[in-house]
Amino acid sequence: VERSLVLVKPDGVQRQLTGTILARIEAKGYRIVELKLVEATREVLEKHYEEHVGKPFYEPLVEFMLSGPTVAAVLEGDRVIEGFRSLAGTTDPTTAAPGTIRGDFGRDWGEKVQKNLVHGSDSVESAEREIAIWFG
Ligand code: ATP
Repeated sequence: VERSLVLVKPDGVQRQLTGTILARIEAKGYRIVELKLVEATREVLEKHYEEHVGKPFYEPLVEFMLSGPTVAAVLEGDRVIEGFRSLAGTTDPTTAAPGTIRGDFGRDWGEKVQKNLVHGSDSVESAEREIAIWFG
């Protein structure tokens, strides 16, 4: 069975959207097999976002992710990686399609970092890597 690492980022937790987001995941039919509320450390975030090191939004992104607790989950299901990314919507929440998590609840695109509520793994390889980072 395919697995995906999903995060409700600090903006989602702070706005009390965790339950709504998890409800959409469950309603779609994915199984939540791991779930925790964590204060991410810089060490975890540097590993998670290592592909973005050096980009202009990298440091603001890490700072944003350190600004409050994150909910980390492992989802299981057929084609869950693709399926969750479809539920989440495109990166920019302002133009993400209505009906998606980002499209329905997001708006903020900061000058330096976008607050787009959720993260979902983008491939089987990154899912395994990210699950190891967040859940050991
Ligand atoms: P998606 O791939 O669906 O866009 P993602 O979270 O995988 O979502 P990444 O490209 O991996 O997107 O970027 C990680 C995060 O960095 C984004 O979710 C967003 O918060 C931030 N980000 C990405 N690109 C930019 C950008 N051009 N300006 C500001 N922030 C950005």
